[in-house]
Amino acid sequence: MQLQSKLPQVGLTIFSQMSQLADAHGALNLSQGFPDFDAPEALKEALQRHVQAGHNQYGAMTGVAALREHVASKIARLYRNPVCADKEVTITPGATQALFCAIQTLVRAGDEVIVFDPCYDSYAPAVTLAGGRCVHIALNSVDFSVDWQKFADALTERTRLVIINSPHNPSGAVLQRSDLQQLADLIRERDVYLLSDEVYEHLVFDDQSHCSVLTHEELYQRACVVSSFGKTYHVTGWKTGYMVAPAKLTAELRKVHQYVSFCAVTPIQHALADFMQAQPEHVDQLPAFYQRKRDQLCLAIENSRFTFVPTASTYFQLLDYRAIRDDLNDVQMAHWLTTEHGVASIPLSVFYQQAPVDQHLLRVCFAKQEDTLSLAGEKLCAI
Ligand code: PMP
Ligand code: GLN
Repeated sequence: MQLQSKLPQVGLTIFSQMSQLADAHGALNLSQGFPDFDAPEALKEALQRHVQAGHNQYGAMTGVAALREHVASKIARLYRNPVCADKEVTITPGATQALFCAIQTLVRAGDEVIVFDPCYDSYAPAVTLAGGRCVHIALNSVDFSVDWQKFADALTERTRLVIINSPHNPSGAVLQRSDLQQLADLIRERDVYLLSDEVYEHLVFDDQSHCSVLTHEELYQRACVVSSFGKTYHVTGWKTGYMVAPAKLTAELRKVHQYVSFCAVTPIQHALADFMQAQPEHVDQLPAFYQRKRDQLCLAIENSRFTFVPTASTYFQLLDYRAIRDDLNDVQMAHWLTTEHGVASIPLSVFYQQAPVDQHLLRVCFAKQEDTLSLAGEKLCAI
């Protein structure tokens, strides 16, 4: 029997590849995005408590009520949108699952989905599995802003969904209010939905604020907004996230979610609910917390031969390596850096349908302890 792949172009993700290479060579792993420090004690204790208390069976399909309430309160406080915890908030086993469900819910065979390159790797395979086709628009190669004229030109009668990601992985660029307004103007008269990946919503620096689709009343009416507790609470391995959408869309999203996973992990949801109740200020402290790490990394590599502009958001910093090895493409450079200099990173070209030819960029993750960042600085300066 011949197994015909439904995803013939897809291999092992770059995150697994680079983490494996880092392990194999004992390199400092700044590739896959995850903290090398632990979750807050109170959060770990809460998980133990709920496991011991016997909260170990299926929870509600939509998510544990207390956690949905805390998410709704946070959204009301930060984005002034009074979403209904029962009808508009759904807890999922990770943001990846929420994105997948949203794409399966909205995309039909033959539909076009507009994505912006460099774009997070899970979107396109989900679109393919839904029978749709991605239309890739390149972000500006210098500041990673959106060219809305290019977007307007890409819209067709088949466009069904637009996927945006701000704060943006891998560039750290953030969409402004004016971007959301242009998007709203361009899709107003069309049957186009919006999927907004906002997993780094709390990691925006230099006194800028995150412009959530949840703050835009008109766009929200046709949107699904996705976030992840993994980024916000330093628990990427807990794989817990959520999606927020107007009631009618949420009802459809839940039809898919209930058959992809049914529900998220019960004791983890209780633990997150307890922690959000006890420490609502955690999210307000995150920008300063990660900005310090960004600044520590940038200072440590100030005298290296890499060039960079300090990132505006997320826990990723882009580094331009053309002054060091302009003979290597970024995939080769990421391998060379890992095997010869003991630092693993992510090449940017893998997030493009067609990467700019003269781009020499690597992404490094600074969600790391002070010692790790110092060591990274030493290694990167030695090159
Ligand atoms: N979207 C983006 C842009 C991400 O960077 C990530 C994760 N790292 C995700 C989604 C997935 O989040 P989760 O781990 O909660 O599935
Ligand atoms: N989102 C993480 C990153 O960008 C990786 C998640 C994964 O490994 N799939 O590094």
